[in-house]
Amino acid sequence: MSKQRNEAFRNSCLTPVYQNAAYFFDSTEQIIQYHQGQTNLGRYGRYDSPNWLECEAAIATLDGYDNALIFSSGMNAIVTTLCTFLEQGDTILYTGKCYRKIRSFVTQVLPKWGIGVVPMEYGDRPGEGGQAIPEAMTNAKIAFVEMPSNPHLYLTDLAQIRAQIGPDALMVVDSTLATPYNLQPKRWGADLTLHSCSKYMGGHGDLIAGSVAGSEELIEKIRTYRNMMGGVLESQTAALLSRSLTTFAMRMEHFNGEGMKVAQFLETHPKIKRVFYTGLESHPHYGLAKKYLTGHGGLISFELAADGDETSKFVDALQVPFMGTNFGSSDAMVEQCSVFTYYNSTPAERESLEISDSLIRLSIGHGDSDALITDIDRALDIAL
Ligand code: PLP
Repeated sequence: MSKQRNEAFRNSCLTPVYQNAAYFFDSTEQIIQYHQGQTNLGRYGRYDSPNWLECEAAIATLDGYDNALIFSSGMNAIVTTLCTFLEQGDTILYTGKCYRKIRSFVTQVLPKWGIGVVPMEYGDRPGEGGQAIPEAMTNAKIAFVEMPSNPHLYLTDLAQIRAQIGPDALMVVDSTLATPYNLQPKRWGADLTLHSCSKYMGGHGDLIAGSVAGSEELIEKIRTYRNMMGGVLESQTAALLSRSLTTFAMRMEHFNGEGMKVAQFLETHPKIKRVFYTGLESHPHYGLAKKYLTGHGGLISFELAADGDETSKFVDALQVPFMGTNFGSSDAMVEQCSVFTYYNSTPAERESLEISDSLIRLSIGHGDSDALITDIDRALDIAL
């Protein structure tokens, strides 16, 4: 049977899912056009997918850059991006209290390749935050900033970092917790903005993906590494992510409004010792929150006035949120950080990262937040 292109139903409202391993060319001339960037045809499933292009265009617009790339996970987006730019002998600055696996990559893998790693610690300007700036700042090739940080929602003074690193250094911001809806790192000098799209951007708990957005020049360099390292997203998953992005703003409005409501409830409850939410004046970096954030999302961390066992009892008594480790999805999720994400950390590591036994991370989900508040109140009565 001869080769045929299926062109039926080209008026589909949604982009069809291109589950292709390969794409065909009509002629050698077309292949050469492809190599010269003169056609929009695809070549191979590790290099091309129309479903990626749809997501990438949407994410570039959301983040305010020319271009974007999507990846098989947020971690893959970060690792591929850092590998693209770092060389032996370089130094990377990074927000020391950041997502655990990012810290593991930076502290365990990069030094093996002869790359210096310098944590930026949070400063102690009450109400403002700010960073303790290490000496190495001006020599760094990359300043990697997680903003806000997971799980304490700590903030970084992006403008200050931009001013202190060298003009050729890259400022790379992981703003998974803020999303483009609440933070625009590019406005503050970020060369690249990253997201774990597994969280708010995907938003339904049904996909794992990551993105990086930036100038065409930087993105083309990262694309070369993505093509080699192969951390690409299944087209099916890219189609799910595109679907999610159409409701992104509505979902973020919900999280911003209801997140604040739940945070305010927690802050006034006598059995809660401390709440970490950037919309509350009590957050140590509230001054930076006012400068950089336009909303505060649906992730709230808090400490109970309780020990570890009582905290576990509280989490076990909750009926609305799933006990699990995701955020920004339709389902509310809760974890006691010391026995979930940080279970394998030593007590000393947990202490240095401020992961107390009573620290809880709650993502509010899309449901009725009054029902969630009632559930929290009831579980606190049972546990304490
Ligand atoms: N960045 C942040 C701030 C995260 O919280 C996470 C995951 O929790 C990641 C990156 C990694 O993303 P993924 O799980 O999509 O690999």
